[in-house]
Amino acid sequence: MPFEIPAIVQDRVSARARETMKKIEHFVETECIPADEVYEAQISKDPSLRWKSYPPIMDDLKKKARAQGLWNLFLSKTHYSEGAGYTNLEYGLMAEILGRSHTGSESMNCSAPDTGNMEVLAKYGNAAQKKQWLEPLLDGKIRSAFLMTERFAASSDAKNINMHMRTEGNDLVLNGTKWWSSGACDPRCAVYIVMCKSEMNTSNDPFKQQSVVLVPAGTPGVTVLRPLSVFGYDDAPHGHAEVRFENVRVPRANLVLGEGRGFEIIQGRLGPGRIHHCMRSIGAAERALDYMIARVNDPNRRTFGKLISEHGTIRSWIAESRIAIDSCRLVVLNAADKIDRVDAKGALKEIAMAKIMVPRTVCDILDKAIQAHGAGGVCQDFPLARMYAGLRTLRIADGPDEVHLAQMGRNENGRAAAIIKKHEEQEKKRTELFRVYKIDGKSHL
Ligand SMILES: Cc1cc2nc3c(=O)[nH]c(=O)nc-3n(C[C@H](O)[C@H](O)[C@H](O)COP(=O)(O)OP(=O)(O)OC[C@H]3O[C@@H](n4cnc5c(N)ncnc54)[C@H](O)[C@@H]3O)c2cc1C
Repeated sequence: MPFEIPAIVQDRVSARARETMKKIEHFVETECIPADEVYEAQISKDPSLRWKSYPPIMDDLKKKARAQGLWNLFLSKTHYSEGAGYTNLEYGLMAEILGRSHTGSESMNCSAPDTGNMEVLAKYGNAAQKKQWLEPLLDGKIRSAFLMTERFAASSDAKNINMHMRTEGNDLVLNGTKWWSSGACDPRCAVYIVMCKSEMNTSNDPFKQQSVVLVPAGTPGVTVLRPLSVFGYDDAPHGHAEVRFENVRVPRANLVLGEGRGFEIIQGRLGPGRIHHCMRSIGAAERALDYMIARVNDPNRRTFGKLISEHGTIRSWIAESRIAIDSCRLVVLNAADKIDRVDAKGALKEIAMAKIMVPRTVCDILDKAIQAHGAGGVCQDFPLARMYAGLRTLRIADGPDEVHLAQMGRNENGRAAAIIKKHEEQEKKRTELFRVYKIDGKSHL
């Protein structure tokens, strides 16, 4: 379906952004979607080469996209004067279109985790850190990884992180093991943004004991132990790595923002990034619905005398999927708009709502699309199984659903005293009105 800006946000989208959206849609439909399978085919099947090279078609896509000005669209001018300068709402709409294709985001240098990492460097990095790492990242010359999660720590509570950091003279020395470091297997990955626990930090505040350090890939003592798989997919050449740090030494100058400021940095990193993931997921849901409609209308696949689309259940799935996609889009755009109007901190509730609702709903749509394809849906002949695997992880990554639900539930439940007080006042007033109008009877409350 051609991309349409929802009526309710029409007046929030500039002419420049509309123009860019048209170009993105054309590029994604005519260049990226046809390239998706070529990209897959170009990933080496040889285990010794699988993590040493990347599909050459990606460099061609990047050159073409950049020549059309489709580059670094995510970066706001607030954090970097040379950012593309779109609002979160505008970039959210763009991310939806990018999400239709596996190669869409990377072709325009807009893929995770680099986008979040570039935002960290733009927002919190000093001039030297920006020169060394942000500039080549913005140029698409290198890639990066964000290392927070640890195998032996329940990492949805970031206070549990154990990676040990101590100071020796002008150096920082790191020891520990990270896992699920997305992108760390990629041969282009040149820098790790690592969350550590500082030994020398004496703060009693549990939110001030972590620090973020930049570690160049290949620093002595760093070992990428193995790629982890997601339902059997290794996501090469990107990968999700387990990485060991043994007496890894980097200069103190590699500390971002300052010691004990790690929480501040990760919180600043995740807000807009969650919105991007959600909007890309909606793009994926649109694509899944297209696949479902195409498959159930295939004239060669009739059952019990009817096209599959003529069975009532299947029609309901199509309608339910459309309702779900359009509802999710509004929830995410509402969060993006609130970030634009207030800031990410002021939009925590709206971001959490989107982060909980979208991956769940899109998983459900993908499940229906897979079911409508029969056995074809679970195999490599259609992209649905791989899309499902990716989407399912979003219910865990960047904070599991339950953590967001617990926080939202706590805040919502915090209204209890005010609600009870309001009910008591209304009950008093009702009793008074019964007395004035001489009505007999008990309260039904
Ligand atoms: C594909 C993928 C990519 C990832 N990429 C990265 C990356 O690049 N960098 C990185 O650092 N990490 C990454 N992660 C890791 C991810 O961020 C963590 O898995 C996540 O934070 C959860 O931590 P955990 O796995 O240790 O789960 P745990 O903390 O052990 O939690 C397990 C489960 O406990 C439940 N739970 C936790 N808290 C509560 C609560 N308050 N109330 C109710 N239930 C609760 C939830 O169901 C949760 O899923 C990635 C993960 C995946 C799957």
